[in-house]
Amino acid sequence: MTVDTNTVVSLHYKLTNHKTGEQIEETSENQPMEFLYGIERIIPLFEENIHGLKAGDTFEFSIPSAQAYGDKNDDHVALIPISVFFDETGKVDETQIKVGAVLPMTDNEGNHLRGTILDIKDDTVTMDFNHPLAGTDLFFKGTILAVRAATQEEISHGHSHGEHGHHH
Ligand SMILES: [Zn+2]
Repeated sequence: MTVDTNTVVSLHYKLTNHKTGEQIEETSENQPMEFLYGIERIIPLFEENIHGLKAGDTFEFSIPSAQAYGDKNDDHVALIPISVFFDETGKVDETQIKVGAVLPMTDNEGNHLRGTILDIKDDTVTMDFNHPLAGTDLFFKGTILAVRAATQEEISHGHSHGEHGHHH
């Protein structure tokens, strides 16, 4: 069976920064990545590049930042009143609120975002809400471990089940 829509793919990969060669992440030996091809939210060009492969096949390809997590956008850097970060006592916990910290935040529309603190002033905090990999050209190298037909249940749920997939 080859990788196609409505198959469950499990694979190992190593992701590096295409420009610098710096390693970003790698699946571990006993924890491959498993997903429902064409349904779960994987980078479209990643899916395109493994389409038609079968168990045992290897792959390596790069994806430019614009087609991965997008380019860095200055509009996603925001100034936030420091009062947002006050704890119950009306103070800022400096062990948590510090430059470089990544915090879960909620925007005006209730969307959950992760922001990185860039700067802290007396009355404002500058946060970057760009994806941590925005602006990064990606390079993937890996091996397809298994390809199987998805079950009707997996297709209706929109994710893979089983050993390394979604657990209920
Ligand atoms: Zn499910």
